Amino acid sequence: MRTRGPPASDGFSCGVAVRRDVNPRRLLSLLGQLVAATGLPYLVFAALSLVWDPEGSPADRDPEARPSVSVVLPTYNESGIVESKLRSICAWDYPMDRVEVVVVDSSDDETPALVESFFADRVTPDLTLIEETERRGLAVALNEAYAAADNEVVVKTDCDSRVAPDAVREAVANLADPTVAAVTGRNAEVLGGSGVERGYRDVQARIQTLESHLDSTFVFHGPFSAFERDAIVPVDEDSIADDTELALKIRRGGDRVVFDPAIRYMEAAHSGFRKRRQQKDRRAMGLLRLLWRQRDALFRPRYGLYGLVVLPFNWWFTVVSPWLVAAGVGVATLAGVATLGPFGLAVPAAVAGFVAAGSRDALGPLQPLYSVFDTQVSLVRAGLKLLAGEGDGTWEVDDELREAYD
Ligand code: GDP
Ligand code: MN
Repeated sequence: MRTRGPPASDGFSCGVAVRRDVNPRRLLSLLGQLVAATGLPYLVFAALSLVWDPEGSPADRDPEARPSVSVVLPTYNESGIVESKLRSICAWDYPMDRVEVVVVDSSDDETPALVESFFADRVTPDLTLIEETERRGLAVALNEAYAAADNEVVVKTDCDSRVAPDAVREAVANLADPTVAAVTGRNAEVLGGSGVERGYRDVQARIQTLESHLDSTFVFHGPFSAFERDAIVPVDEDSIADDTELALKIRRGGDRVVFDPAIRYMEAAHSGFRKRRQQKDRRAMGLLRLLWRQRDALFRPRYGLYGLVVLPFNWWFTVVSPWLVAAGVGVATLAGVATLGPFGLAVPAAVAGFVAAGSRDALGPLQPLYSVFDTQVSLVRAGLKLLAGEGDGTWEVDDELREAYD
């Protein structure tokens, strides 16, 4: 028999019940708790980077190292930009007689023919061209290319990116550290000038530097990631976060995987809210699914501070915090309406204004905050898309972004 507490609700009569129960003070305190819970890890991070501000790579670097290098370049209908990409690779400041280019192509345009004619009258670097008969997605293609790569170090680079001439030298300097088996670099220039992307990348570079000094970093970047060939393992065939997945698996194998801001690349990005969603949502889906599939690594002392701090932080940022942000906006709206009536709709209106200004790069000093918000929006959408069964490993390449490389 019930003797205490409120009468049981049938769960359906909320229309009336909620109205009577909406207590603005309660909502405001709930909102306060949500904001505190969402912000706490970021405050801890900010405090940590104030008292301890590591710079550069934590690796014991050897700037003289010159191992042989296989450059893996995956292509899907890149006829517009593949030649300029190959030209830029050949201009890298690295002995080209130590370099092999492995192109793995799934195109139905003239990309493979352009690749062959580019190398036709060249002595170095060597070319290995893998032509797939059908497109089965980037992860499948990369597994094939990694298996074919002959050299000591494998550098993976996306066609729609530009890598600084000294990036490979910086990368192999890191890999000379016997505890380090993978290294990624920094988005040093956003082609197209998107301030949203710039803001996000600067925040991310600080986080990744901190993570690397603690142990290892989580996110690896498509425009430039380098791996010791012998450490490479296959990625899941439907992976949409292949570089990050490979790094995570290498870390699980025992070697460190680090970020070095001296390795620089350029990539094009949009600022507009809608245009950003296609690529951002997909990349977010890749990271979310990866964290979920590899959840058994979380809090495992076996993986050092990577398992105890780095992965939990990334779970927070990727899996938990986006929903707290969404709930925060919802509760703030309710609290606004409960206290101010229709004027409470100023809350969603303010959020819309924030988005409108942020996606036009017009927020000045608040721009980095908007950039993080933009990422959290994609993570909420990505979670919903994954639940709806999306994410099969193939996607439309963004032609508009590729115009920046002409
Ligand atoms: P995003 O940067 O995350 O938007 O991904 P992109 O669409 O730019 O693709 C990254 C790289 O993978 C580019 O060099 C593409 O040409 C290549 N790519 C994408 N899908 C496939 C595929 O199915 N097979 C192969 N071989 N390459 C692919
Ligand atoms: Mn791309």
